[in-house]
Amino acid sequence: MGNLNVIFSYLSREQLNDKQKESIKNILDKGQLLSFRDSNIEISIATLSVKPKEVVFLPIETKKSEKYLIALYFNSYLKQDDINFFKRLIYQYNLALDRSSAYEHMQKIAALDELTGIYNRRFGMQRLAEDYSRAKRSGNAFYVIMFDIDHFKKINDTFGHQAGDYVLYQIAKTIKSLLRIEDVFLRYGGEEFVAGLICKFENVIEKAETIRKEIEKLTFLFNDFEIKATVSIGISKSQPSDLLTIESLIKEADEALYIAKNSGRNKVFIKQ
Ligand code: GH3
Ligand code: MG
Ligand code: MG
Repeated sequence: MGNLNVIFSYLSREQLNDKQKESIKNILDKGQLLSFRDSNIEISIATLSVKPKEVVFLPIETKKSEKYLIALYFNSYLKQDDINFFKRLIYQYNLALDRSSAYEHMQKIAALDELTGIYNRRFGMQRLAEDYSRAKRSGNAFYVIMFDIDHFKKINDTFGHQAGDYVLYQIAKTIKSLLRIEDVFLRYGGEEFVAGLICKFENVIEKAETIRKEIEKLTFLFNDFEIKATVSIGISKSQPSDLLTIESLIKEADEALYIAKNSGRNKVFIKQ
């Protein structure tokens, strides 16, 4: 932020004065190694007081753009080779930092569905499996909710594929906003979504009903078309003692969804 605050300091007892703060800020801003020999420096380690021969400052910046200064104190004078070593260290560090930021960016792109911005199937299923094991380990029930838009083909046929895309996006957004931040939510197929919840039985039913009703209430406006849509919802559950795999839980949710469809659509059905 342009100010310097000492947020952590190990073995340093003294408060920094303005001049010291300013010079540290300078080193951080330059981002380059600084080494010097100064006989006036004295550092305290426990009860000892030591006068280092040479001091090396290594400024580093983190991914969150926080800057840190590593101070190394040596009890002998450094050779040029040693200084070069530390210069290379900073260079390598910055290189690794850039690569890791780029990698994170790629990971994010690889995990998300392009149209809806929620997890895609491949990544979302991994997260779902992780949450399922976590629920088991912590002795909690786990619920898989499967959503399928009703007569979606008709929406495409009537209003066009682009309108269909828009409805798909809006429905995903609506469901996501009604789930908790910690609930995994993914695009499972074309117009099918899956969520994984660790919660009580009453809550999952209530949540599914809320989502169903909210979507029923919405009108999607696309190119002057007023489009209505509903979803059918199938739920499966697993108790911690169950030996069900995540795949069989998905299969059961799919079976429940099939029943919701066959009993008139725009319904919630839970597999007991
Ligand atoms: P049901 O109530 O039985 O689910 O009927 P439905 O028409 O929703 O189901 P069906 O499986 O017959 O059709 C699904 C349609 O979803 C067909 C497919 O073209 C459409 N679809 C799948 N992915 C996308 C997409 O990304 N964008 C759009 N616009 N349509 C999609
Ligand atoms: Mg479908
Ligand atoms: Mg459908």
